Amino acid sequence: MPLTDDTKVLVIGLDSFDPQLAQAWMEEGKLPHLTALMAASVTGRVRNPPGLEAAAVWSSFSYGADPGIHGMYDGSRDRRKALAGKSGGEAAGLRPLWSILEDAGRRSIVIEAPVVPDGAEPRGIRVVNWFSHLPEEGKSRRTLSTQPPELREIIERDYAGDPLQGRMCDYYQPRSAAKLAWFRDSLIGRVRTKTALATDLMQREPWDFFLVNFEDAHCAGHHCWHLLDPSGDDAAIAAQVGNPLKTLYMAIDEAVGTLVRQAGERVNVLVFMSHGLEPPHTGLRLLDRILARLNGELDETRNGIITTLREAWRSIPLPVRHRLQPIRDAAKAAFYGEGFLPSPETRKCHEVYTGERGSGIRINLVGRDPHGLVQPGDEYEAFCDWLIKEIGAVRNDGTGEALAGEIVRTRDVFTGPMADTLPDLLVTWNRHAPIPSVSSPSIGRIRHPHPSIRTGDHSPDGLFLLAGPGFAPRRLNDDVSVTDLAPSLAALFGVHAGFQGRALEQLAPAPP
Ligand SMILES: [Zn+2]
Ligand SMILES: [Zn+2]
Repeated sequence: MPLTDDTKVLVIGLDSFDPQLAQAWMEEGKLPHLTALMAASVTGRVRNPPGLEAAAVWSSFSYGADPGIHGMYDGSRDRRKALAGKSGGEAAGLRPLWSILEDAGRRSIVIEAPVVPDGAEPRGIRVVNWFSHLPEEGKSRRTLSTQPPELREIIERDYAGDPLQGRMCDYYQPRSAAKLAWFRDSLIGRVRTKTALATDLMQREPWDFFLVNFEDAHCAGHHCWHLLDPSGDDAAIAAQVGNPLKTLYMAIDEAVGTLVRQAGERVNVLVFMSHGLEPPHTGLRLLDRILARLNGELDETRNGIITTLREAWRSIPLPVRHRLQPIRDAAKAAFYGEGFLPSPETRKCHEVYTGERGSGIRINLVGRDPHGLVQPGDEYEAFCDWLIKEIGAVRNDGTGEALAGEIVRTRDVFTGPMADTLPDLLVTWNRHAPIPSVSSPSIGRIRHPHPSIRTGDHSPDGLFLLAGPGFAPRRLNDDVSVTDLAPSLAALFGVHAGFQGRALEQLAPAPP
């Protein structure tokens, strides 16, 4: 075992950097640094938590545990009240990989690990909310925070600011050629600035574990995906801006080259392409109406008025909407209280946000949820069976195909102390075509109130490349669970506890 005290690990997170596009563009010679690294790496597909792939991938990576243990996914912030304001991971007493390594005496530098709270007083260096995709909970803009706090001033003084001004990419919805070019160049600018900070910190500060994550391919995936294979108006736009996603991937490839070179030959490098891209069609928010109709909870008289008002609202450009939001909230509260559908507590079940690839269903269960309406045991089981059958019978009117691709009972796939905080059912959309409206004998027809504003969205699985002293390049046949990456990295430092996942033999260096 070539484990020495000077073991170092560099993790380069490529958030939502699509593995298939990456492989195609490597074959074209457009990503030379990733190609060279792959030739020296153990590499394989990464399997993410089923039904919560995009939503829970980073938490599952960082904690080396699945959502039954850490309870974190995109909609889990809705459940934080129930956990006394803590995130699932904190409430479960978990610590991310880098904090565990710090406990073992290692020094960590972490730039932008998405959606993973650090817990109190990290010992290492942290840069949080800097060029990320999602602003902090409940905020419309990101605010940079750092550990130690004085690092923030240095970053603000010496490095370029965020061209997106701390706002989420969805705010901009770039559709014209000029806006798309600006958006692409802004993201490339962020990649270069982040790389500059990372390489400076690598040289200036002592470290054993270094993580830098780029979320720019995530933002571009949501808003430039339609230009991969453009037709109609998009073809005319593509003739002006080319393929923004490809140009950005090339800039990220350059960043990978710079970081690997800076880290030096003795450093173990993990590149983690967390998950990928696919068409954006979604049943998100449509599901809540389906559930309400199935349970006789939809107020049909209000439905028409509110749908009209909502459509008027959604026709207002997003920046204007942001300014009008307080007025709208006040009007909505005065007019409706909880809004269009009855409030979730008064319903037998309701939709829970888990990203756009699928949705969760939370059942108001007696004894578990504050306003339980469904009894545990036979009644709950029969209700789940009935929901699965009824949702399975709903068709996309555009294609005649089933709306849902897959519906799983969460507890069949996740167990652990936080499993009860997750949705009860996870529905994945059949999303290769638009979903204008849906029908079934039980629900009649429901028009989709909110088609996605994005042009691309997440596909489930990722890819990793692991290179370093003692690793013989090879492609693994079997998928690796995302929960096994952190324990495998910790094992390189001789740290073997603190994770649900296991250190994999395939991810250990060969004996000298
Ligand atoms: Zn996303
Ligand atoms: Zn974004």
